[in-house]
Amino acid sequence: MCPASERQTTDRSWDNLDLLVPVNEALARVLDAVRPLPPVDCELLEALDRVSASPARATEDVPPFTNSAMDGFAVRAADTTGASPAAPVSLAVVGAIAAGEPATERIAPGEAIRIMTGAPVPAGADAVVRFEDTANVNSRVEVHRPVAALENVRLAGEDIRAGEVAVPAGTALSAPWVGMLAALGQVTVTIHRQPRVAILSTGNELVAANGTTGSGRIRDSNSTTLAALVAEAGGLPLALGAVRDEMDDLRAALRRAVDDFRPDLILTSGGVSVGDYDMVKDALRAEGKIAIWQVRMKPGKPLAFGAVNGVPLLGLPGNPVAAAISFLQFGHPAIRRMLGHPDVSLPTVTAVTTAEIANAGQRRHFMRVRLQDGPDGRLSATPAGEQGAGILSSLALADGLLVVPEDLTHVPAGSCLPVQLLRGRG
Ligand code: AMP
Ligand code: MG
Repeated sequence: MCPASERQTTDRSWDNLDLLVPVNEALARVLDAVRPLPPVDCELLEALDRVSASPARATEDVPPFTNSAMDGFAVRAADTTGASPAAPVSLAVVGAIAAGEPATERIAPGEAIRIMTGAPVPAGADAVVRFEDTANVNSRVEVHRPVAALENVRLAGEDIRAGEVAVPAGTALSAPWVGMLAALGQVTVTIHRQPRVAILSTGNELVAANGTTGSGRIRDSNSTTLAALVAEAGGLPLALGAVRDEMDDLRAALRRAVDDFRPDLILTSGGVSVGDYDMVKDALRAEGKIAIWQVRMKPGKPLAFGAVNGVPLLGLPGNPVAAAISFLQFGHPAIRRMLGHPDVSLPTVTAVTTAEIANAGQRRHFMRVRLQDGPDGRLSATPAGEQGAGILSSLALADGLLVVPEDLTHVPAGSCLPVQLLRGRG
């Protein structure tokens, strides 16, 4: 055991170039550099899928008064003892209350009041007999079944009590949660601000999506893929287009991204590999404090991470699938963290592989797969097509990313492995 020297090795490792970093360590390092963004108030519908930044306390009971759960008659439960179709109990009907009206009358023994669902239960009554269990006889009602005290009655505060924390801080606000805030009388809610994410593609070969290909030119698809993935993660994408592999252009573009757009995160793609023109890493180092890692994953091995003028920056590889998968492993969790989500990872299921998989090279392999419900009730995972780092179509077809661990060199068909879901399966 030598904790001091161990720590020294770990610390130094982050600055080393071309160092093989395990996926989990790279993720921990990225998450360590980001925090939930400051709170802002917004309207309830705008808060859908965001995370509450402060607890919402109920100022009154929900429901606010005791009311009927059925259309029927408000009665004293004791009056209905022994009632049956053969021996009905006859009660005098002394009034009627619709939903939205106050209960002004009180019932005495032997009396009933017609009551609609949601109407306040009148004083003196402690139960409601459903219409289906009664018959009307002139101004009286025959009850055919006994009711217990509180039967068909919704008590004030049975959902939420006044003073209680109804929506804790850190709640991912799904539709029922925003509905609950409305039930509490809130028209706005405090959430963590949405991160602004600047996206910069790099490469002399890139033309915009409406540009002309050929003569070595390809279209910049990463800007759009990454912007869409940022939006899916809950961030606000700011796609700044492509910049040439020129040191001055790259540095100027980075500075402009920070100064003009005040982003919370910068994503670049391309130029972090070992090619002659892969100078993003040099520009990044010149403009900020950036480490270049070789992450033990496939696809998406090269990754840059650090900060430019205090703004965290993730330098993704250029190959379209590698860029997307690296984003999903590191950018997506970072954005979720900034949004305040307690769980930042992609939703994960377990599936049974249908094909044999080879995984040489001690890297975590994120394999594009389609999922199917098997006859045994288990999910099965089948490769979605060619797995090359540039084959975007198989990522588009995939339901998820099968995670093959670093140390599994050979995965026989029929193995159970985790699958990160790329979208909800309809
Ligand atoms: P790089 O990491 O810069 O060496 O790029 C690796 C591969 O990804 C090359 O074939 C690039 O042409 C391609 N690539 C880089 N950036 C993009 C982009 N924004 N859109 C589509 N392909 C790209
Ligand atoms: Mg390049």
